Amino acid sequence: MATIVDLGFQFVERNSAGQIVRRFPASGLPTRGGTSRIIIHHTGGTGNAASVHEYHQNGRRWMGIGYNFMIERNGRIVQGRGWNAVGSHSLNQNNESVGIALQGCFHTPGSTMPTPTEEQLRSLVALLNVAFTRWPAMRNSMNNHGGHRDMPGHATNNCPGNRFHSQVRHLLNCGRDFANVVFALNTLRSRGVINDPNYWRDSFHQLEHLNTLIIRFGNTPVANTQVRNFTNARDAINHLANRRIIDSPAYWLSNFHRVRFLDSFFIQFANRIH
Ligand SMILES: [Zn+2]
Repeated sequence: MATIVDLGFQFVERNSAGQIVRRFPASGLPTRGGTSRIIIHHTGGTGNAASVHEYHQNGRRWMGIGYNFMIERNGRIVQGRGWNAVGSHSLNQNNESVGIALQGCFHTPGSTMPTPTEEQLRSLVALLNVAFTRWPAMRNSMNNHGGHRDMPGHATNNCPGNRFHSQVRHLLNCGRDFANVVFALNTLRSRGVINDPNYWRDSFHQLEHLNTLIIRFGNTPVANTQVRNFTNARDAINHLANRRIIDSPAYWLSNFHRVRFLDSFFIQFANRIH
C-alpha cells in the first residue's frame, strides 16, 4: 500500500580536507546495529526531498539526506537512506531508529506549510505499517517511538512542531493497527455493513480511537438476516453502548461529525446488532 519512490540519490564520502572522494547509492551506506525506534520529524522547511538531500549533503556536509524516508506534500514517499542504513536525524538514536520526515514546518508561526496534508498523513500511516511489518517486535514497545522531541536528550527540540506533535502518538497506533484495520474493513464489507473499505482505509487516521472501533466492529458478529431500523446516529450509538460494544457514547456523539459517513457507519452497524 505504501509506494516508496527511489530518486537514485547519490551519497558521498569526503576526505579530511572536505573534498568528495567517492559517490555511491543508498545501498552502500553503513547499516544500523538494530532497529527499536521509529522517529517522526518535520523537515522544518519548505523544500522537497531532492532539495533536503542537496542541503544535507552540501550545506551540512553530511553524506546526503539524513532521514530514512521523507514524505512530500502530495504524499509521495521518497527513500532517503532507506530501511536499514544509519540515518542522521536524531543524535544518539541514529544507530537504532528509522527516521521519517514530513515536508513542512509545523512549528514556526507564519509557516507556509503549517500542518501536514491529508496525503502526507495517509502515506505516513501506510509507511509505518510497513515498518511494523518488518519489525513486528516494535509493536509491543510503542513508548520507544515518537516525535523527535520525545526522544531521550531531545526534549528541547521543537521538531516535529507544536501543530503536529499531538497527532504523532495516534498515527503511530494507526500504523501499528493498519493491517488489522484493513482486515476488519474487509470483514465488514463482506457482512454488508460498509460499501467502500478503501474510503475507511484512507480515513481512519482522522479520528483518535477510530482504528480501535473498526477493529472491534470487525470482530463483533453481526446478524445477516434480521435488520433493525435505527435511522439516527445517536440512537445507534446508545444501542451499541448498551450492548457494551463501545465504551464511551459521549466521545462518539461529540466526534462522529468529524469524519464523513461515520454517522451512517454507526447506523449501519447498529442495525445489524441485536
Ligand atoms: Zn527532527
